[in-house]
Amino acid sequence: MRHRLGLVVLGALFWAAPVHADPIGEGVKDLPIFDAHVHYKEPAWGPYPPGTVIELMDRAGVAMALVSSTPDEGTIKLYEYAPNRIVPEVRPYHGGYGSSNWTSFDGMFDYIRGRMDAYPHVGIGEFHLHDIAKADEGLLRQIATLAAERGALLHIHSGAEPVSFMYGIDPNLTIIWAHAGMSEPPAVVGPMMDKHPTLYADLSYREWEILKGEGGTLDPAWKALLEKHADRFMVGTDTWVNEQWAQYSDLVAMNRAWLAQFPKDLAEGFAYRNAERLFKRKVSRDLIGTR
Ligand SMILES: [Zn+2]
Repeated sequence: MRHRLGLVVLGALFWAAPVHADPIGEGVKDLPIFDAHVHYKEPAWGPYPPGTVIELMDRAGVAMALVSSTPDEGTIKLYEYAPNRIVPEVRPYHGGYGSSNWTSFDGMFDYIRGRMDAYPHVGIGEFHLHDIAKADEGLLRQIATLAAERGALLHIHSGAEPVSFMYGIDPNLTIIWAHAGMSEPPAVVGPMMDKHPTLYADLSYREWEILKGEGGTLDPAWKALLEKHADRFMVGTDTWVNEQWAQYSDLVAMNRAWLAQFPKDLAEGFAYRNAERLFKRKVSRDLIGTR
């Protein structure tokens, strides 16, 4: 009897496994994309006015995007043009303060809070953190407290250490780890996500590691990591310079190429469902072509 039950269970596994493992393949073309890493920086405003940006999103099948800009006015321009397509977050960078010196501006906390009061920002970021200087700790604590009070997330470009530092201030913060740590390998990203259940990651600039070579296969370490935390990774393009806007469709196509190798449920998660849940928005192809 026990033997027979074993056969039934084994049979069910063999029957179920290929169904689950079937990659979505060509079906990936029909998925709407939530682009979790968009900037609309000042140099883009002239050559890529808001209407052009939304058209680029339409053409690439991008239904919605998380946008932060240097300065924040760029994000608001896009948001006001197409509020149903743009999820705004406030980037601290403005004036002479950018990625390398933003924490040294005395008025930074008031600036961030003021922008959050004035506009419907869902988060603070993307900002860069390298080594955390003693002098910066006060500001980072203020930012963590503000995020917690407002139910806002943080979008941080850093290695593992600054993310751990922020979770040390408040373990309940929601953090999007930009570029999944950029240069941190899956062996570092995985344990961080194991440890922090509210840690999400966008995968911009990771496409070429996830998918090896032209028409390539999934890197085994990335595949295992993406499967393990399938509900917390999101696609991103990172339009940090105009060259990224110029090749926006190709960037999205590159992401669809790796998505295509995952089963439908996982591919949908990375493409838009994880963002849907995180940002509490309905993302669908119906948004494309609208504003
Ligand atoms: Zn960025």
